[in-house]
Amino acid sequence: MKRVYNFGAGPAMLPTEVMEKAQAEFLDYQELGASVIEISHRSKEFDDIINRSDELLKELAGIPDNYKILYVHGGAQMQFSAVPLNIINRNPAQKASFVLTGNWAVKASKEAGRYGTSMNVASSEDKNFNYIPEFDSSMLDPESSYLHIVSNNTLFGTRWHDFPDTGDVPLVADMTSEFLSRKLNINQFGVIFAGLQKNLGPAGLALVIIREDLLEHALPLTPGLLNYKVYAEQHSLANTNNTFAIYMMSLVLEWLKDQGGVEKMEHQNEAKASLIYDFIDSSDFYYGTAQANHRSIMNVTFNLAKGDLLGDFLKQAESVDLYALKGHRVVGGARASIYNAMPIAGCQALVDFMAEFERSNS
Ligand SMILES: *Cc1c(COP(=O)(O)O)cnc(C)c1O
Repeated sequence: MKRVYNFGAGPAMLPTEVMEKAQAEFLDYQELGASVIEISHRSKEFDDIINRSDELLKELAGIPDNYKILYVHGGAQMQFSAVPLNIINRNPAQKASFVLTGNWAVKASKEAGRYGTSMNVASSEDKNFNYIPEFDSSMLDPESSYLHIVSNNTLFGTRWHDFPDTGDVPLVADMTSEFLSRKLNINQFGVIFAGLQKNLGPAGLALVIIREDLLEHALPLTPGLLNYKVYAEQHSLANTNNTFAIYMMSLVLEWLKDQGGVEKMEHQNEAKASLIYDFIDSSDFYYGTAQANHRSIMNVTFNLAKGDLLGDFLKQAESVDLYALKGHRVVGGARASIYNAMPIAGCQALVDFMAEFERSNS
């Protein structure tokens, strides 16, 4: 059986151990004689899965008791609608503020503008989003119902190393491409959301972590299945949820716990990213596309000084099982997405290949 090192941005590689476990118990879950995808979302067995997932999330991410954990349909982008629907009315002025650090932030800001007033308080668009702009709380309209940031910018390879202090205005963070890759103080956030398909499981669902007091402000037109309060009251089972995705995520969380938890994973992620960045910085053949002090440890974006060699670079990489290294078209170049499931051996294999490609092309 062939398994490549998959550097795709999402859906992304998951730990092999997780997939093997899912495969081994796929036909017969816990001696039920039925698959986990064939049993009721109201069964005791599924109840155990979702409870276990909650428990592991609380433990791994350090989620305090005054936060709810929700499993919400539609992936990350659906939350670009759900967040304003649920909390833009926290202040009757119905304003939402955004820091534009990439396409996902821009999209979220436009979507919120359909439900109220969307205000972009800072942006790094002037340099094609290759850095995180300065922000301080004086830039924030105190009538803002929330400030939305994208903590890790998947396309551009930047991240917020420190999170902004927003005072009484709740901070909403799209953490799709980094949740559980770094230690967080959850109390800094009003809402965290993450589509599962980058670091947590299969596509199509979003994990939402929300401070309880923010469940009380949904606009009257909010669809029931986008209303966070409905999710909170019915343990995300107001209708048939994506039981398979929740099951897969619970396996990913078990795996993460077995690996030693988030702090351990963060050290490993830093080591993985440094391996690649240090190599890029030591070479004139490659260069990083994000400003060094704002670099992501999940999505490493880079290019070749001789840009016309990129096609060959990507093709030859695939031929040695280094898969999906093409950068997003808005940045060009290459991108190595190295989420939790990417072993350090994969990053080493990439660096070895890059060194070899440099030797044979300079
Ligand atoms: C991938 C990604 C999204 C989009 O996720 P979907 O589940 O496809 O909607 C949104 N935000 C960020 C930061 C992402 O990386």
